[in-house]
Amino acid sequence: MSSRYPEQVDVAIVGSGPAGAAYARILSEEAPDATIAMFEVGPTVSDPPGAHVKNIADPDERARAQLRSEGPSAHDDGDRVGGIVKTAQRRARPGTFLLEDGYQVEGEDGLPVAAFSSNVGGMAAHWTGACPRPNDSERIDLLGEGDLDELLSEGERLLGVTTDAFETSPYGQIVRDRLAAAADEGRSERTRVQRMPLAVHRNDEGRLVWSGSDVVLGDVTRDNPHFTLFDESLVTRVLVEGGQAAGVAVTDRRTGESHEVRARFVVVAGDALRTPQLLWASGIRPEALGRYLNDQAQIVFAVRIRDLVAADASAQSGATGLSEYSGVTWVPFTDEVPFHGQVMQLDASPVKLAEDDPAAPGSIVGLGLFCAKDLQATDRVEFSADAVDGYGMPAMTLHYRLTEHDRQVFDRAKAEIVRLGRAIGEPLDDRPFMMPLGASLHYQGTTRMGAADDGASVCSPNSEVWALAGLFVAGNGVIPTATACNPTLTSVALGVRGAREIASRLLTSK
Ligand code: FAD
Repeated sequence: MSSRYPEQVDVAIVGSGPAGAAYARILSEEAPDATIAMFEVGPTVSDPPGAHVKNIADPDERARAQLRSEGPSAHDDGDRVGGIVKTAQRRARPGTFLLEDGYQVEGEDGLPVAAFSSNVGGMAAHWTGACPRPNDSERIDLLGEGDLDELLSEGERLLGVTTDAFETSPYGQIVRDRLAAAADEGRSERTRVQRMPLAVHRNDEGRLVWSGSDVVLGDVTRDNPHFTLFDESLVTRVLVEGGQAAGVAVTDRRTGESHEVRARFVVVAGDALRTPQLLWASGIRPEALGRYLNDQAQIVFAVRIRDLVAADASAQSGATGLSEYSGVTWVPFTDEVPFHGQVMQLDASPVKLAEDDPAAPGSIVGLGLFCAKDLQATDRVEFSADAVDGYGMPAMTLHYRLTEHDRQVFDRAKAEIVRLGRAIGEPLDDRPFMMPLGASLHYQGTTRMGAADDGASVCSPNSEVWALAGLFVAGNGVIPTATACNPTLTSVALGVRGAREIASRLLTSK
């Protein structure tokens, strides 16, 4: 049987989430003659490929798309078994699957609900789409003055970020005003309470359309005759020749056959746990690989908005997955108040939906505060030389410990969330709830960027791996700072810079 893969391309991209898609998009725009192959281990579950599953109007079809994203054990033979290990304590969000073993070593805190998505579009076919910019110590200084902002603007363009999709939400202003009264004092304009920038827009019929990798790829990539996306294709190894990246070994999951595809540049964008896994499996093992793993611990609290006049029932979300009563409100991270606040209707938050109030639908709001981790090199993902995961790749073990500082930040966050909640309305519970570690789905640091090859970073500010020329890494693992804000916009921004670097090298070597 002949292979469906090309023998040679200019750029091989591993992973079709927003970070990989950003490379394909910028290369299509800036180096339109370059041949690009994108490999994705999961299936195509939406149309156009990579589209957010919330845009699928039919609930059964949407549920099936989520299920098919839930990894190597997911199957739908009538029993609809999605992902793996779902217990009361360890639950995966729809469209994701949990790390089966190795999520917690005895005596450590671990990341009990560390999760993945395997589908064209990656986790961004299932995400909430919050795209805040990093602030204060979340920012990445090593890119140079002003550079990060320009890249973030590009990231917003690629992700289709807007702030007005929920403009007409009846309760949005009330929530923002009450939060602002409680939180804005002493904050600069940039860090005041505001609408959350979201990767969503309204189509001509007024319906919300959530951005996934389809939006990042855009027509320019889909129409690029030199770009091909291969789904159900597991990259098992980065090929190395003469001290350079030289391509990838890929297994066609439809046939089980393995092939080699030569490439001048390889971009690994397989999420913050599977990108280091692929490097490790390829024998590329710099000291910082898998280290500085960090997740944003999440504290949640629910309140009923005080003194509400019932809003128009037409604000119901229907199939869009997010109530349109108040949209999403952002309380930015600052070094003084080191939490990222995301306030939204409960059906879009990880808090269990409280019973609806027939008198005032949409009156229950979930507050979430994400905390930045105290970074430690010892927090890491390790890979096994013998044991394998469901895809046959090196099995992972997560080493993860909270520090005394982390626990102090959580205590502060708990007090702050109650204060903010009370400003909006009446709490549903006495105490805030801490989500199991890993629930944020924002794992970072494992292929972190650094200014120099000093053992504390894996890649350069261009995202090129120090240890191997021509190999680029992408995704949240590249972020070197401890962020509390949702990281995808930042990852896409960093990807823009890496992609520009590849485009410029391709153009100068023509
Ligand atoms: P991913 O989207 O995970 O994509 C990586 C892809 O690579 C996967 O499809 C995977 O199958 C593939 N892959 C891995 N290894 C291989 C291999 N060896 N060969 C071939 N393919 C491979 N983030 C935000 O910023 N804001 C939010 O509001 C937000 N909300 C979220 C809500 C939910 C329910 C979920 C699930 C996630 C949310 N996230 C949010 C996280 C966000 O989706 C991720 O940060 C983002 O998708 C990361 O992009 P990525 O391209 O780096 O990785």
